[in-house]
Amino acid sequence: MLALSLLLIGSMPVAVFYILHIKRRLAHDIASRKQSEQREQTRNHVLELLAHGAPLKEILQAIVLGVEQEHPDMLCSILLLDSEGKHLVTGAAPSLPDFYNAAIDGIEIGLGVGSCGTAAFTGQRVIVEDIQTHPYWVSYRKLTDRAKLGACWSEPIRSSAGKVLGTFAIYHHQAHQPTAAEIRLIEQTANLAEIALGRSQTDQALQESEKLLSDILENVTAYIYMKDTQSRYLFANRLLRERFAAPMEEIEGYDDHKFFDAETAANMRRDDLRVLQDGETLQIEETSLNILTGVTQVFLTVKLPLRRADGGIYALCGISTDITERKDVEEHMHHMAQYDALTHLPNRALFNDRLQQAIAAAQRNQMHLALMFIDLDKFKPVNDTYGHGVGDLLLQDVALRIQDCLRDSDTAARVGGDEFVILLPSIESEPDASRVAEKIRQALNRPFELAGHTLQIGSSIGVAVYPEHGSNEKLLVKSADIAMYHAKKNGRNNVKIYQLGMQEVSQ
Ligand code: GH3
Ligand code: MG
Repeated sequence: MLALSLLLIGSMPVAVFYILHIKRRLAHDIASRKQSEQREQTRNHVLELLAHGAPLKEILQAIVLGVEQEHPDMLCSILLLDSEGKHLVTGAAPSLPDFYNAAIDGIEIGLGVGSCGTAAFTGQRVIVEDIQTHPYWVSYRKLTDRAKLGACWSEPIRSSAGKVLGTFAIYHHQAHQPTAAEIRLIEQTANLAEIALGRSQTDQALQESEKLLSDILENVTAYIYMKDTQSRYLFANRLLRERFAAPMEEIEGYDDHKFFDAETAANMRRDDLRVLQDGETLQIEETSLNILTGVTQVFLTVKLPLRRADGGIYALCGISTDITERKDVEEHMHHMAQYDALTHLPNRALFNDRLQQAIAAAQRNQMHLALMFIDLDKFKPVNDTYGHGVGDLLLQDVALRIQDCLRDSDTAARVGGDEFVILLPSIESEPDASRVAEKIRQALNRPFELAGHTLQIGSSIGVAVYPEHGSNEKLLVKSADIAMYHAKKNGRNNVKIYQLGMQEVSQ
């Protein structure tokens, strides 16, 4: 019994020690469970803020406050590296004194620039257990004394690509050596800050690229739009909004019937369907009336399908360039290449083309055609007497009178100074041609009232008939030419039909 009592008494200190140990373990376990609950809470809160697109400052503040709540003896800061990558600016440091933050804000990073300046510069974690003795803090001792800072551990915040974005730092008022758990805390917090900064950088990059795209779309001198599969507008750039004289809200969801006449809208829908249903990329010329200005415009339009990742078409994109002016110039050039500038009659090139076609048709259909050469008589004296300007007016009036004698299917052309040629593409027989030639001769022989003058001229006309006077273009032209010179030689102001055996005359 005594032995048992002694044994019990002897083991009392052991038991007490054991109980105390368990109590401490329990307290430690409870504290660390609380800490990990707090950390979990902070993490969730931060992720929630991120998901809701909260401002970066607010998110960084939540990270710092979360750690400080978890460890009331710590003061934390997040510093951000500026775009140059040279200076640290305050991201969040709500518990450090204002004067301290103001002194640190904008500091240039470098080796020995406190813990954060060094961490950002080297990209390595910097643990300063005692600010008082550490060489990195020598230059800042006054500041840290005033702020009563004893230790500073700093972890670089790195992007997923390894670029340093800033630093996360934990300060203590006294010198302090981190435990393994505290190192984990620094790492985890820096990771959380990296998520926030990474998102912010992605957002910024996205905003920049959106701005760039929008700048291009809004300033380009082309009409750019997107339409859904029903040809309803999803987007219209500034130029197109101006053309429709409508803001985006009055364009989005509407199709072309709102902006164009029914026929134009139907044509546009037909082209849209080729893109939306058949997946074609079209390059087309579109002509449409601008209902605001009443001007018809010509567009060079490219329409292409927009596809989802699975290949399905969800919309089309159209890019239209106004080529009205270019078209006008082209048409003008085309006209100039084919028509005489003074009389607006076809020129020799166009006439030859028509003559060729008419001969081919006459040959096919076993028909006759007539070719006439007209040269005005004594035209030069008009120029000499009244001036070149009056001569020009006379040539214009001559052209009109010739045309008045012809049918729409006939062609009159000016091929030289006072030389005209006429094609009658389908005649029954030679007398038909003589009749028209005589009619022209008489018309041109009537007096012209021009610029206050009464002018009288005549014309010498040579006629050749296909196939009798030439079986091809060249021979027929030669015959008409010979006939005309015979008319001149015959005293002018008369019509000569080509006859076999007519000789070429020297002028
Ligand atoms: P002929 O009776 O022999 O035909 O003599 P003509 O006076 O009519 O002279 P010709 O047919 O040999 O020459 C035509 C003249 O037309 C020569 C030139 O001075 C004039 N001429 C040529 N082109 C133009 C033009 O564009 N405008 C004007 N006003 N005169 C022109
Ligand atoms: Mg002449």
